[in-house]
Amino acid sequence: MSDMLRVDALGKRFGEHVVLKDVSFSLPAGASLAVIGPSGCGKSTLLSIIASLTPAGSGSVAMPQQWKTAFILQDYGLFPWKTVRDNLALPLQLGGVGRKERSCAVNAMLKELGLEGLETRFPVQLSGGQRQRVAIGRALISRPDLLLMDEPFAALDAITREHLQNLLLSVWQRRHMSFILVTHNVAEAVFLGRSIMVLGGSPATTRLWLDNPCFGNASSRNSDAYFSLIRKVHDALEDAKNMTEKETS
Ligand code: ADP
Ligand code: MG
Repeated sequence: MSDMLRVDALGKRFGEHVVLKDVSFSLPAGASLAVIGPSGCGKSTLLSIIASLTPAGSGSVAMPQQWKTAFILQDYGLFPWKTVRDNLALPLQLGGVGRKERSCAVNAMLKELGLEGLETRFPVQLSGGQRQRVAIGRALISRPDLLLMDEPFAALDAITREHLQNLLLSVWQRRHMSFILVTHNVAEAVFLGRSIMVLGGSPATTRLWLDNPCFGNASSRNSDAYFSLIRKVHDALEDAKNMTEKETS
C-alpha cells in the first residue's frame, strides 16, 4: 500500500440525516490539509471517522497499517487533575514506555514547545495558549504519522493564535508527519494547508480542492497571489454556506 491516507467515497448519516456524501481525497505522508466549511456541515464527523472514533457509513478510509494517529480537540482534552508533566507523559505511560524514557521524552517536548518551567502546574493554572501547547505536546509525544486537529486555535486571541500556527509549522517541518486541520478561519486555512478543502452543502461534500502556493510562507502574506487565494477560499466558503443553509431549511 502506498504511503498515504486515502478517503474514498465516504458517506455518513445519523438516522435520516445524511451528513457526508461522496467525500474523496488522498493525503501523502508529510503533507498538510486544511478543511474549512460552515458550522454543522460535518467537519468534526469527518475527522472522527478518519480517527476511527466514529464508523464510516459508506466508502472507506485507509492508511498504512503502521501509521499512528493523534487527535487534538478544540477544548484541549487535558486532565485537570494531572500536572503539565503528567498530561504530557500519559500517552507514553499508556503505551507502556518506562519511567526514564518517559521523562526524557517529556523534557524534550517541554523544550520544543517552550513549556519549560510550567511542568508542575495544573491546566487551570495555564493560559489558553499554554494549555493548547500542552495539548499539542501530548498529541506529538507518541510521534504520530497523522495529526488530526479540530479547530485547535479557535478559542485563542489573534496574537496567541498566530504564535501557535507558527509553532505548529516549525514542529511539522522537523518531522515527517501529515496533518489535517479543521478550521473556520480562511487565513488560517491558507497559512497551514498545503492543500485546502472546502466542505459544504447538505449532505456535505468537497466543494473546492486547492493546492496552495502560499502555504507556510508568512512573507507571501502581502502578495497578490495570497489575496486572490484568500478571495477564492472565502467565495467557496460563502457558496458552501448558502448551499448548506438552503438545503437544510
Ligand atoms: P461541524 O464540525 O462541521 O460543525 P459536525 O460534524 O459536528 O459539524 O456535525 C454535522 C452534523 O451532524 C450536525 O448537523 C450534527 O448535529 C450532526 N451530528 C454530529 N454528530 C452526531 C451524532 N452523534 N448523532 C446525531 N447527529 C450528529
Ligand atoms: Mg466541529
